[in-house]
Amino acid sequence: MSLNHGRDLTAMPGPSMIPDRVLRAMHRAAPDIYGEPLIGMTATVMADLKRLAGTAGAVAVYIGNGHAVWEASVANLFTPGDRVLVLSTGRFGLSWAETARRMGIAVEVMDFGFRAAADPARLEARLRADREGVPLKAVLTVQTDTASGVRNDVAALRAAIDAAGHPALFAVDCIASLGCEPFEMDALGVDVMLAACQKGLMTPPGIAFTFHGARAEAARIPCQSPYWDWGPRTAPEEYYQQFCGTAPTHHLFGLREALDMLLEEEGLGNAWRRHGVFARAIWAAVETWGGALELNIADPRLRSHAVTTIRTAPGLATRLRAWCAEAAGLTLGVGLCGPDQDRDSLFRIGHMGHLNPPTMLGALATIEAGLEALGAPRDAGALEAAARVIARAGDSLPKSPDGG
Ligand SMILES: *Cc1c(COP(=O)(O)O)cnc(C)c1O
Repeated sequence: MSLNHGRDLTAMPGPSMIPDRVLRAMHRAAPDIYGEPLIGMTATVMADLKRLAGTAGAVAVYIGNGHAVWEASVANLFTPGDRVLVLSTGRFGLSWAETARRMGIAVEVMDFGFRAAADPARLEARLRADREGVPLKAVLTVQTDTASGVRNDVAALRAAIDAAGHPALFAVDCIASLGCEPFEMDALGVDVMLAACQKGLMTPPGIAFTFHGARAEAARIPCQSPYWDWGPRTAPEEYYQQFCGTAPTHHLFGLREALDMLLEEEGLGNAWRRHGVFARAIWAAVETWGGALELNIADPRLRSHAVTTIRTAPGLATRLRAWCAEAAGLTLGVGLCGPDQDRDSLFRIGHMGHLNPPTMLGALATIEAGLEALGAPRDAGALEAAARVIARAGDSLPKSPDGG
């Protein structure tokens, strides 16, 4: 007998759970790609994406995923021989670095390991020492590193660049965190920001975004690739130029619905707070379990509100993920390795996007059942600890759409 008959639950750090409303909005006949309804709707999506990012700058929308916009950012900003500094706090900064390297850019990686955030003091010292020849053109980092579960302090990194008096552009990958973590591009002094639709934005994978401000616009190079070029995409004369071809029509309908949910109905501030509550509930459970489980990031101020990385006794993570998937229909995130850890001893809980207490507590309770089934040593009370966080937050959550 299997108990696994019902609605599957994914708690992976992307693609995240897709609201039925978003799927329903996509379930329709093909629209006229020359017709005003689609063109008008697209304009509202573009405007709302900028609201979401907190920028008056430009947005480019690509049919693609996160890797696509890594490449787009490099193709528009750097030319072979340019030097960039990548701050690595897990896995995803390194992949962006590898993209740039493959495209002929001179990449320097400043590595902060798998269990720490980027250190603004080290960044400042490195930039102060960058005195000879052509300066580094940009500093690239992620807000949330989806492998380690760290959250970098974007404001502190910006302040470090300013304190060094360095002209580098500041580019931030918010693919895991947009819509989950507080982030306002212009207020934070971020010049370039990357995002994709399949994590905090609750839409099936397929479109991704670059945002860039005035400093990045001034630093643009003549893009060699017609497809990646920001020019026509951000200032189109014809509708099709926004996408360099056919629009991702159904993704735009889905994203329109998701943006309504996030910006109009819930309010972005409330969505940020909700993600903070769920993150704290998950941390409380893991900390209570103790025993064979440990949070990868020790300092709560450095932990992501979108994804939590958990270290386990050797091999337990893989066995637990298999149990949860097969016996219960819960998909957990695989371990993306740090240098000091094998992937069978690491798993991740994605808690981004379309998530409420029953889904989040259901995932934790299923993990509890899996740990019990596998005989993993741990303390009692984890689910109560998570429920307590939810109960306390329920009293104080603002009821107004964007309140406070
Ligand atoms: C998921 C993710 C990516 C990669 O996105 P893909 O859509 O898988 O290409 C890049 N950066 C971060 C921070 C991510 O979380």
